[in-house]
Amino acid sequence: MEQVLQPGLYIVATPIGNLGDITLRAIEVLRAVSAVACEDSRVTGRLLNHLGIKSRMIRYDDHAGEADRDRLLALMREQPVALVSDAGTPLVSDPGYRLVKAARESGIAVTTLPGANAAVAGLTISGLPSDRFVFAGFLPTKAKARENELLELGAVQATLIFYETAPRLAAALKAIGTVLPGREIAVARELTKTFEECITGSAEDVAAHFAEKPPRGEIVLMVGPGAGKSPASTADADEMLRSELATSKPSQAASKVAKLTGLDRKTLYARALELK
Ligand code: SAM
Repeated sequence: MEQVLQPGLYIVATPIGNLGDITLRAIEVLRAVSAVACEDSRVTGRLLNHLGIKSRMIRYDDHAGEADRDRLLALMREQPVALVSDAGTPLVSDPGYRLVKAARESGIAVTTLPGANAAVAGLTISGLPSDRFVFAGFLPTKAKARENELLELGAVQATLIFYETAPRLAAALKAIGTVLPGREIAVARELTKTFEECITGSAEDVAAHFAEKPPRGEIVLMVGPGAGKSPASTADADEMLRSELATSKPSQAASKVAKLTGLDRKTLYARALELK
């Protein structure tokens, strides 16, 4: 018997590769809603078709504006509406944040149906510490912005999780090797699919592996935590200063590295002048 759902917004996680990774509850809800808001109706259409579900689809992607949101909000005041993304959990590096915020502000009930997520799936097979982790989405594409972000996140005592693309993996690994030397790396690829693998080692080892065997498909890149409270070594500080000096003045480089490492700013400034 088909379930009768209350009006509102249902956040539904879908598989990240293996179509078996969808919950029984997600299937029931996708069948019972009046509409499924999705990024790409071809992608979601394939999933619904596989599940034998004929629910109407409404496009809601990164380009959705206020008018699209208002239309969906008006619908979900009266009827149950699901939000899915192309794969995995909506809102995680995917659209939905503004819609959920607006729904909550309008007093519309928001219900979650948790399920597959590439970041968590990658973490579970990485062998990296899982007690504290920071998910940071995609690293910036520009080299300087990427280094800055790595410097900032590298100061947090936690495993760092990034989404990455195959063409950008080599540059990301090189930046990690420079900015966060000595960290343990894990690259989880094609999770839940036929060619799932997880390559681990130093940034240099993992880069060498993928230089020989260029990566394909979808990638989660993880960086293990630093050595803890032990102060950054002189060699680490030199690496960081060199990287900063490529685009900043010695005083700025020294301030930034001091902030990140806790080392003395004056000493770092003197060293920056030597390295310049
Ligand atoms: N919302 C999704 C989730 O919950 O995982 C993530 C969407 S984000 C736009 C897409 C990125 O997630 C990909 O570029 C890749 O980094 C990662 N990803 C998605 N599926 C994956 C898979 N099967 N294996 C490895 N990484 C995956």
